[in-house]
Amino acid sequence: MKISPDIFENTEVAYADRSNGELKKAKALFQLMSNNGLVSLGSSLANFALSLHLPVSPLFRYTVYNHFCGGETFDECKKTIQNLDKSGVGVLLNYGVELKEREEDFNKTVEHNIEALQFAGKNKSVKALCIKLTGFGRHGLFEKIQGGGQLDADEKREFVAVKKRFEKICNVAEKNDVPLYVDAEESWIQNPLDEMVEEMMEKYNRGKCIVFNTFQLYRHDRLAYLQSQIKRADAGQYILGAKLVRGAYMEKERERAKEMGYKSPIHRSKKEVDEDFNEAVNICLDNLDNLYVCVASQSELSNQLAMEFTHKKKIDPGNPRIQFSQLYGMGDNVTFNQAKLGFNATKYLPYGPVKEVIPYLIRRAQENTSVAGQTTRELSLINKEIKRRGC
Ligand SMILES: Cc1cc2nc3c(=O)[nH]c(=O)nc-3n(C[C@H](O)[C@H](O)[C@H](O)COP(=O)(O)OP(=O)(O)OC[C@H]3O[C@@H](n4cnc5c(N)ncnc54)[C@H](O)[C@@H]3O)c2cc1C
Repeated sequence: MKISPDIFENTEVAYADRSNGELKKAKALFQLMSNNGLVSLGSSLANFALSLHLPVSPLFRYTVYNHFCGGETFDECKKTIQNLDKSGVGVLLNYGVELKEREEDFNKTVEHNIEALQFAGKNKSVKALCIKLTGFGRHGLFEKIQGGGQLDADEKREFVAVKKRFEKICNVAEKNDVPLYVDAEESWIQNPLDEMVEEMMEKYNRGKCIVFNTFQLYRHDRLAYLQSQIKRADAGQYILGAKLVRGAYMEKERERAKEMGYKSPIHRSKKEVDEDFNEAVNICLDNLDNLYVCVASQSELSNQLAMEFTHKKKIDPGNPRIQFSQLYGMGDNVTFNQAKLGFNATKYLPYGPVKEVIPYLIRRAQENTSVAGQTTRELSLINKEIKRRGC
């Protein structure tokens, strides 16, 4: 069966959960974000205001936060989750607090994630919890380990504490039967993160898939890494959990490689990234007997191809081993139309105190100015729906 790209044009399905008022607000927000100058000025001002502890939260709350986040508390999130569930869309929950550097903050993040796992365990619409390992340990520590630096006694203890925090989370995830999706981060800290995730997959992914690693296909070495991980899981008789993404740190990666004079780990062109991403989906769908996959992308073409592959390979669209996901607040035309066709469609839903989630929101705003075409596409779909409703 051919999945026509037209299926993502159905805006009535895409925005079924949005009121007229919400649609108009979304339109205003995307119009604002399409202005490069405004976003970079806004981002600098927000960072400046935060550093001075000025109250910028209300401004964020009623603009970007409500559009891209589930709420500050689980109770607030429940409303968003129930709303999505009405259209058959699940949720990947994420405690959106980032960029912490102190041991006490890492311990707090563990506690928050444990609460989230307990909440998710009782809520069938929450399909997984997404975590960042830099929420449990210092970026600088991971960078030193990857660079081959000798850890002193304190740093060794620090690393043991990071592993303990991660293991504690895996344990609670298993007890509550909630999968854990571990985000991929910058390439210069990714090796120790991968090693920790591999170790936990080997331990916890027996009979079911609790721990997932993330593969960033904008890196030219990740297709080979994915294949080696499939072999390793086969040999070790555990299940591989694979979240496939293109990658969020392209500019940063290229700048660092240039500055430090090494070959950039990122493909030279978008075309190469797209080819690797689609090939990775194909490979995963060919290995479903020992693998669970989450296709995490807003790209209409990649989603269309992935859906077509499932039909070609005679895989039931609702097969629990395949999940699709887009960020909450973006790509609704993909998510809601996938759900309507019976695919396991989900939204990546960050939650947490407005002030703490601001770095995530700034990234979303910047992405919507730098990702060519994405804002224009969101705007044209919203306009189409406003016109259809005549509101
Ligand atoms: C559910 C979910 C989970 C995610 N988790 C992670 C994560 O753990 N780690 C992470 O890094 N990102 C993560 N992301 C973000 C993701 O990596 C992308 O930044 C984002 O989704 C945009 O890519 P796309 O596939 O949706 O769409 P597209 O618009 O098709 O692709 C845009 C992406 O293509 C790549 N690209 C664009 N231009 C070029 C170029 N000239 N050369 C090379 N590459 C180029 C970049 O990666 C860019 O982000 C996640 C996204 C989702 C939806």
